[in-house]
Amino acid sequence: MHRVIRKLLAACIAGAALLPCASFAAEPVPVVASFSILGDLVRVVGGERVSVTTLVGPDEDAHVFEPKPTDAKALVQSRLLVVNGLGFEPWAQKLAKSASYKGETVVASMGVKPLVMAEEKGHEGKGHQHDEADPHAWQNPLNVVLYTRNIAAALAKADPAGATAYQANASAYVKELQTLDTWAKAQFAAIPADKRKVITSHDAFSYLAAQYQIRFLAPQGVSTDAEPSAKEVAQLIRQIQREKIRAVFVENMSNPRLLAQLGKDAGVTVGPALYVDALSAAGGPADSYLRLMRHNVTQLAAGMRGN
Ligand SMILES: [Zn+2]
Repeated sequence: MHRVIRKLLAACIAGAALLPCASFAAEPVPVVASFSILGDLVRVVGGERVSVTTLVGPDEDAHVFEPKPTDAKALVQSRLLVVNGLGFEPWAQKLAKSASYKGETVVASMGVKPLVMAEEKGHEGKGHQHDEADPHAWQNPLNVVLYTRNIAAALAKADPAGATAYQANASAYVKELQTLDTWAKAQFAAIPADKRKVITSHDAFSYLAAQYQIRFLAPQGVSTDAEPSAKEVAQLIRQIQREKIRAVFVENMSNPRLLAQLGKDAGVTVGPALYVDALSAAGGPADSYLRLMRHNVTQLAAGMRGN
């Protein structure tokens, strides 16, 4: 807190202030966001009026998150909890209960039309349930318009004095989201419809698939966690040749020998990391939601141009 404000506030508490204490709105509203992408949205909409604590940080996996005692402490001190919903944070309710959290909770995805997992010939991984809704609704920027408005409304409820500011921040950000969507449409529209397909180990792209008419296929034979074996890579190569796909984003492949085999036998270079469930650390290629989407769209389009 600013030193001058702290002094004034101390004076106010001591009853010595000449100004009414209510005029010191400088104490930011404490808000907890379940994961890094929501943390970014809350920061954008809340601006200087809020202080955001993000439970699942950059480069961390919300699906397998286990809250720590410090998370319960942050939550109990906050006035608003922002969650994605759609089954993304199965741990959030338990945390709120065990922390005896009494503040408000807003489900940022409220109003989103849920889609099921898009991946064809799917596999189970990362705790995703394939017969349930895909929780990764933020992969369509127009869904994030809803997220933004839901967050603005919840902040205005928690802090009515800031309602106008939240509204203004949200409106400006919605314009950026619409620009992002228009740009992404143009990137993918430049690729013929029959070439708009990708092999990826992320089963998280049904909203992106629907919005921009892309087919996402699971890598055949390759499991999500372990490094693929030579036999699995041979199966993947057959799939690449059959489907005529060169856009391959298989995260867990790092064996140089198998990567070389993929290049030699299928002419494929595995694409760089896509950011799906979390932002990158600050200074990385996806340290805000807008940068995350621009990174993913750019990499996916570049991959598909080789199909
Ligand atoms: Zn996920």
